[in-house]
Amino acid sequence: MHSRRRFIQNLSIGLGAMAFSPFSLPASESSGLQTTGKQLRVALMGLGGYANIVARAMKECRLAKLTGIVTGTPSKIPVWKSNYGIPDKNVYNYQTVGEIAGNPDIDLVYITTPNSLHHQHVLQIAATGKHIICEKPLADNAQQAREMIAACKKAGVRFYVGYRLHFEPYTRELIRMRKAGEFGRIMHVNNYMGFRIGDPNQWRLKKSLAGGGAMMDVGVYALNGARYATGEEPVWVTAQETKTDPVKFAEVDETITFQLGFPSGALASCGTTYNFNNYERLYLIGEKGFGELSPAFGYGPIRGRTHLGAMNQPVVTHQTVQMDGLADCILNGTPDPDMTGEEGLKDMIVIDAVYESLRKGGAKILL
Ligand code: NDP
Repeated sequence: MHSRRRFIQNLSIGLGAMAFSPFSLPASESSGLQTTGKQLRVALMGLGGYANIVARAMKECRLAKLTGIVTGTPSKIPVWKSNYGIPDKNVYNYQTVGEIAGNPDIDLVYITTPNSLHHQHVLQIAATGKHIICEKPLADNAQQAREMIAACKKAGVRFYVGYRLHFEPYTRELIRMRKAGEFGRIMHVNNYMGFRIGDPNQWRLKKSLAGGGAMMDVGVYALNGARYATGEEPVWVTAQETKTDPVKFAEVDETITFQLGFPSGALASCGTTYNFNNYERLYLIGEKGFGELSPAFGYGPIRGRTHLGAMNQPVVTHQTVQMDGLADCILNGTPDPDMTGEEGLKDMIVIDAVYESLRKGGAKILL
């Protein structure tokens, strides 16, 4: 049995793939991590498709280790125990997960449940005093995201959103070039991300579990990309929607285009869909040059070019470098990337504005 005594995580932290591409390098070959012998011990909550990807990628981690699981499906337990050497005492379900508070083998819970459960699961885990990574989209709306941030602050735990691209080398290089002024003043961004979704019965097509459709699921990549391509927060948002299959997409959005206006005058024109493939690109144009990532947002390999020619960055397993990178932040005090709960909230504010523009028409002013 686990002690129910509250475990003040931030005082005691850190004591302790599936390769998406055949070209993936282990994190050790692609980063300059400090290795002090400490590892961040992680429990995955919600053992679906993405949790499997993260777990396999973590086998290559040096600073993060999978030590626990939270699942509502008992039949998954023996498989995970045997694949990852998880002991019985580190296995929880959604009812017993509060007991994780007293488990010194777990420092952080990584929430990989459907979108609309993120809010309740983050509040539940914050109360245990464990650090949190929550998958994207952070919540159903900005209000929920604010409550999640407040709960984590109150509990004194670190709170991240799973924006894996912030550790991806092509993306990081593009951001570095933008910050260094190599593109000049950013004038325009054109980002899109979407795919043709399969099984009509999956939770992603149910509003009560998904919160929304393509915009929530993958439009958030185009949006987050517009924010890191410009380094600015939008001051107005407009959006348009089309629905060519009102039966399949009865509850959630199918295809949305949206535009963001930034304080500098830069404009972003973005799109997202659940109804066609080959729709994935980030393109920024500045006064001195351009940058393009295509593909830009999936597991890669990401490819890129700029006005200087083809980009040549290491190809990594995104989830390996993300988990090692965030462990480095927590264990060694390395500065946080733009993956904090607050960054997730900034995107939720814009997503709220996209839906409001669709409902009411016209522009939503965010000033
Ligand atoms: P899955 O449906 O494959 O897995 C979700 C898991 O959540 C289930 O297997 C189940 O695990 C658990 N769960 C708990 N309650 C429910 C419920 N009511 N209905 C369905 N599942 C439930 O989804 P994904 O893994 O694809 O997505 C999970 C999250 O990860 C989403 O927020 C998604 O946006 C995000 N994601 C992020 C990606 C990225 O690249 N950053 C890529 C893919 C997804 P159990 O049986 O163990 O309880």
